[in-house]
Amino acid sequence: MIIGVPKEIKNNENRVSITPAGVFTLCKAGHQVYIETKAGIGSGFSDDEYKNVGAKVCTCDEVFAQSDLIVKVKEYLECEYKFLREDQIVFTYLHIANDLPFAQALIDSKTTAIAYETVEFNHDLPLLTPMSEVAGRMAVQIGANMLQKGNGGSGLLLGGVPGVMPAKVVIIGGGKVGLNAAKIACGLGASVEVFDISAKRMAYIDDISNGSIHTIYNNEYSLQETLKTADLVIGAVLIPGAKAPKLVTEDMVKTMKEGSAIVDVAIDQGGCIETCDRITTHDNPVFVKHGVLHYSVANMPGAVPRTSTVALSNATLPYILKLADKGLGALRDDPGFMKGLNTYQGYFTCKAVAKALGDKY
Ligand code: NAD
Repeated sequence: MIIGVPKEIKNNENRVSITPAGVFTLCKAGHQVYIETKAGIGSGFSDDEYKNVGAKVCTCDEVFAQSDLIVKVKEYLECEYKFLREDQIVFTYLHIANDLPFAQALIDSKTTAIAYETVEFNHDLPLLTPMSEVAGRMAVQIGANMLQKGNGGSGLLLGGVPGVMPAKVVIIGGGKVGLNAAKIACGLGASVEVFDISAKRMAYIDDISNGSIHTIYNNEYSLQETLKTADLVIGAVLIPGAKAPKLVTEDMVKTMKEGSAIVDVAIDQGGCIETCDRITTHDNPVFVKHGVLHYSVANMPGAVPRTSTVALSNATLPYILKLADKGLGALRDDPGFMKGLNTYQGYFTCKAVAKALGDKY
């Protein structure tokens, strides 16, 4: 099969869908990879690195025209819709439930489109996990920076020093984002609390951290009390398929200390903190409300494209290889992979996405 890798054109998107290691694996398995020139530059991979492992470096038009399978990171932008066609498979983050024009373009062109975000394995979303891991770890380093005096914060070092108390980090939601944030905050010496409602998850976090990450059953009262003394709050709640619940109200934020910081990672699902009422960008990520610094960037992994590209590619490559080997037979063999299929021959084929688009169709 010929696998095409276009350069991402979305603003500030520096990831690429396949690393040279991925190209090596695909070529060794007998496939061909056409990659657009400079597609890997933003992630630190040169055209020569791709050429050296067997890729053909070519123009954008050639990639889309020649390939049987297009592998991307982000959804198609309007100027790319012209490349969609019935006899091509597209594998990428689609997010069409929130993107009606792209959904319509996929239906009109009868493209076979498989979304990273709906592929399942063992009731988990394996192609979303790596980005949650990146965002969780980033949340702490971003929060640590926000707390510095020069950045408008209270002037606290997360871990303190001998003789000085560490900062208090409150993480709401102890899933993939939350646990990764907790591990980094704990490693830096901060005092860490994780609020969740899953007893099983809290037992797991308690076990692996040997009790050094404090887990607390989330209810309104406990949260409101702890926020009064929090230095860094990280929002990491997810209710699959739904908007994030607003667990931290504006009144609670008003009780927080001057110069404390909030990173609402769940902002891509609407955010779980009421005062995170806007999506910010990497160019201007922080705003201040009630004396508290707020960060609400919806594509946090985009700031560390090298790490994010490799992490994403590690997760997607086995699926790309299966698709290249077996075509759509790969989906028939694996019900979890089949859940990734969002559009086929002009129809929506993913229940959750069709439901979300609902009465528009
Ligand atoms: P996850 O499913 O692994 O974890 C969510 C956790 O929230 C679970 O442990 C669940 O028990 C907990 N939870 C649910 N309801 C709760 C409540 N009322 N109180 C406390 N905890 C509750 O999800 P994840 O992969 O960790 O993702 C978390 C969020 O981060 C999602 O919205 C995801 O889309 C987002 N995310 C954002 C970025 C970004 O760049 N901003 C990147 C990656 C992920």
